Amino acid sequence: MDKKFTITSDIPSPAHICPFDQACSYLDAAGKELKLNQGLLEILSNPRKVVTVSIPVKRDNGEIQVLAGHRVQHCNVLGPFKGGIRFHPAVTLREVSALAMLMTWKCALLGIPYGGGKGGIAINPKNYSATELERISRRYISELIKDIGPSVDIPAPDMGTSAREMAWMMDTYSVNMGHAVPGVVTGKPLSIGGSLGREMATGRGVMIIVREALKNKGKSLEGIRIAIQGFGNVGGAAAELLHQAGAKIIAVSTGSGGVLAENGLDIQDLKAYQKENNRKILGYPQAKPISNAELLTLPCDVLIPAALENQITDENVNQIQANLIVEAANGPVTLEANLSLEARGVTVLPDILSNAGGVVVSYLEWVQGLSYLFWDEQKVNDEMESLMVKAYLKVIQESQNRKISPRLAAYVLGVGRVAQALNDRGLYP
Ligand code: GLU
Repeated sequence: MDKKFTITSDIPSPAHICPFDQACSYLDAAGKELKLNQGLLEILSNPRKVVTVSIPVKRDNGEIQVLAGHRVQHCNVLGPFKGGIRFHPAVTLREVSALAMLMTWKCALLGIPYGGGKGGIAINPKNYSATELERISRRYISELIKDIGPSVDIPAPDMGTSAREMAWMMDTYSVNMGHAVPGVVTGKPLSIGGSLGREMATGRGVMIIVREALKNKGKSLEGIRIAIQGFGNVGGAAAELLHQAGAKIIAVSTGSGGVLAENGLDIQDLKAYQKENNRKILGYPQAKPISNAELLTLPCDVLIPAALENQITDENVNQIQANLIVEAANGPVTLEANLSLEARGVTVLPDILSNAGGVVVSYLEWVQGLSYLFWDEQKVNDEMESLMVKAYLKVIQESQNRKISPRLAAYVLGVGRVAQALNDRGLYP
């Protein structure tokens, strides 16, 4: 289909795979399955608003550097735009646009009243001091001040950002409004209206999806061999919770490489090692070193890519040995690789379902803030679990009813819900 939305001032994404085209291909496939009207499909394949701002920042040495900050607002038919802000060197406008679209389907699939958005700045946060990152975060949000708000667009943490950046952003917005506005971001520190359970939420959601998928095959987590690419906020939390639930985490990795222990890693011990060794896990004495590429092709029951996009491609797909892949990262399996995995009967549970725990607890944080009532962690976890399990069961049901893959089923449900709302609201003017 003809895409009206074109971005020319962009660098090619890794491996020359355009993430936005890839996202549109999934949308087109869902549109075909749902027999959606072409005009409606065209509305959904274009972001509602794309903003790029200049962020002049004074480095600690006095030099001035100008960064580009993006925010893409894909769709707000069901509620405010919602999605993270990423600080990562691979950020491009195309990537942010693709991720904004994924957020729309993710929120719709989970039944939470949000649309999709995403933001990002192409920096490696490790190369900036905390004071520089604070200036970058504050200037970025002040440039976007008219485009965000608790009922307009609600940013959250993503790769390279955390509660600390959300606090700076919330403060900048609030100072400009003249009063505290906690609802403008989620994933905030507890002291300013954050929610218990938010930090572990994406990893907890991944654990729930792995557990449910195994249950569906008549198995439990006990003794299941799992390899996880990524050991940060998402991969690290998933590893800890899966390990606690009885699974054997045989390998994990970070950007600089991974570690393998055939009999299972002691995740608490590895985390303590990582903390003491400047966030590195390489050199952990109780395990063998392996590369990120080797980790993906290990013999294991479950593979959880929890790092970057485009990790399982047509180049390594034939070596993948896991029978269940749970996408904790956004878009870790390319379109072609996905087709070949499906043809081999490998179950791939898609990102818009598997990593939705984060945005679900963001929603619960926002609800708690708006109602001025704060819940204990058990209640947050229970509410999240119930929404995740409900979405998982719907995806499996839809996939069986329509005889389609779980990925397409998830898109059919997400896209279908937005399309229905768009139809019911009608077109203005
Ligand atoms: N960045 C996370 C995601 O991609 C969370 C977004 C949010 O909480 O709004 O789902």
